[in-house]
Amino acid sequence: MNYDDLDLATLAIRSGYTQTPEMENSEAIFPTSSFAYESAEQAAARFSGEELGNVYSRFTNPTVRTFEHRLAALEGAESCVATSSGMSAILALCMGMLEAGDHIVASRSIFGTTFVMFENILKKFGLTTSFVDLTNLSEWESAIQENTKLFFMETPANPMTEVGDIRAISELAHKHGIEVAVDNCFCTPILQRPLELGADYVVHSATKYLDGQGRCLGGAVLGKKETVGEKVYGFLRTAGVSMGPFNAWVFLKGLETLEIRMKAHCENAMAMANWLVAQPNVKAVHYPGLESHPQHELAKTQQSGFGGIVSFEIEGGREEAFKLINSTQLLSITANLGDTKTIITHPASTTHSRVPAERRDAIGVTEGLIRLSVGLESVKDIQNDLAKGL
Ligand SMILES: *Cc1c(COP(=O)(O)O)cnc(C)c1O
Repeated sequence: MNYDDLDLATLAIRSGYTQTPEMENSEAIFPTSSFAYESAEQAAARFSGEELGNVYSRFTNPTVRTFEHRLAALEGAESCVATSSGMSAILALCMGMLEAGDHIVASRSIFGTTFVMFENILKKFGLTTSFVDLTNLSEWESAIQENTKLFFMETPANPMTEVGDIRAISELAHKHGIEVAVDNCFCTPILQRPLELGADYVVHSATKYLDGQGRCLGGAVLGKKETVGEKVYGFLRTAGVSMGPFNAWVFLKGLETLEIRMKAHCENAMAMANWLVAQPNVKAVHYPGLESHPQHELAKTQQSGFGGIVSFEIEGGREEAFKLINSTQLLSITANLGDTKTIITHPASTTHSRVPAERRDAIGVTEGLIRLSVGLESVKDIQNDLAKGL
């Protein structure tokens, strides 16, 4: 079977798996820590690398490999390494590709824990990071130093949904011999394929849309074989930030419905954004699908859909925002995203509470800002739940 000509929806369901002699139609799980050999000679050959094959599940596991192959097919990547969480994917990328003394340029509005990892943890080991405005190409350029090795961005960004120009930022990076990583968590390969747009690496928190039902933690790094398949994998098999087979199986099943779920998330989010614009107490709505969004045209050229995250600002401050959140009965009050269940979050007091207040205001994360991860319930029911409080 030549998988090159298949569409994403088909790849998400069919690629990456080799049936066992039992001819199961649903992928098997291999919950085993180690693998046995036919002989002592074979064990020696596997350990020396002379013979390819399973050794130990910290290195490879058949269920995890199926997830890696399937996600690689979707992102159009040569190699994929699955990790225990989204954060360990970002750690594995940095540990695999960078050395003490190297410098990272990252967009400012990245996932809060990624910011803390760059700022507090990597810094202890001699890796420094400069933070720039995702949408301002000249800030990226002026932040470049002699020792800059990596550009890191999330687009669309959380929670204001700004969109970064992956093509232009990658072109700038490559002119200076710098590599580019994109956290593709918000879009998934169904809506955006950063490697095709010029990026060198994609990282994922599989915890979000790839699972899509809020069950398991996991992550992945994707890119070229010589970097991800060798250096990032080399870090993972030694440091042990590996994905377990059960989680890999849950993500595999998640991938099978990814295309249809992402389309439904986009449709519901667009309907919610248009509805919110018309509500009297709503001051502003941020969603790349709205024509009023500053990067709406750019989003149309690099995304095939606008995603499931909508944020909006209501009149008043924290008190009014909390009142609205507490008035909901259907929506989940949590800080996760990418679930079938619609989630309502107050970024300033949760995901962005560690960002200093004046910085928060500067990036638009005001006390009146609310983020929705629009789920797959009926839009009418989500609207009715919010309408009472609005
Ligand atoms: C959640 C998230 C992460 C971290 O993933 P975990 O699986 O929670 O470790 C990284 N980036 C983005 C954009 C996220 O939303």
